[in-house]
Amino acid sequence: SDSHFPVPVSPHHVEYSLHYPHFYPSSDSQSNPKKIEFADVGCGFGGLLISLATLFPETLMVGMELRDKVTEYVKERILALRVTNPGQYQNVSVVRTNSMKYIPNYFEKAQLSKMFFLFPDPHFKEKNHRRRVISPFLLDEYAYVIRPSGIIYTITDVEELGEWMKSCLENHPLFEALTDEELEADPVVKLLSSATEEGQKVSRNGGLTFIAVFRRIVPAV
Ligand code: SAM
Repeated sequence: SDSHFPVPVSPHHVEYSLHYPHFYPSSDSQSNPKKIEFADVGCGFGGLLISLATLFPETLMVGMELRDKVTEYVKERILALRVTNPGQYQNVSVVRTNSMKYIPNYFEKAQLSKMFFLFPDPHFKEKNHRRRVISPFLLDEYAYVIRPSGIIYTITDVEELGEWMKSCLENHPLFEALTDEELEADPVVKLLSSATEEGQKVSRNGGLTFIAVFRRIVPAV
């Protein structure tokens, strides 16, 4: 249950010096204005973050994962990469948490420039749709923590869930879809299936994927 993992009471209480000691050599998080900018929600074994860490070496990023053992695995994976690649992978970390409850404890308003929801659990039954990580209610929360022009990336191999995520985003007043040209030009889009463990599994089995990528907008007044 939730009582088994600590939750920061506010984004100011996130322990940056523990997660990113290279960027925060002192435990005083005020010593560095750099904040986490990318969040991979339900990061699983962390493949996407590992790819992003070297693509954006100056950007702090975090994986959020509910399963204890999986989170420990990702932690070990990152520590091992730091040892074998001195100076690299200092910008990536992972927390064990329930993202559906605690996003506002980790991120301030307009802090994030990218959020990832890659191959989330489908929760097929209608009565379980409220457990889906993309929903009208949770999108309000994500719109709060994503900055204007920030991007939300989703991918799934479950067509019905793909339609659901896309329609939630289309119907939300604070998000607009990227154009085909923008999707083509964004190097991160290619990683959604190639860098994630789930994506690799789907492509080995020749399965289809459904992508929805939307930008946080500021509505005209
Ligand atoms: N994104 C990874 C990938 O593409 O390889 C993992 C996908 S896996 C199917 C979904 C992951 O989301 C699981 O590791 C699960 O433990 C995690 N998860 C489910 N609900 C969650 C929640 N409320 N908060 C954080 N993680 C969650």
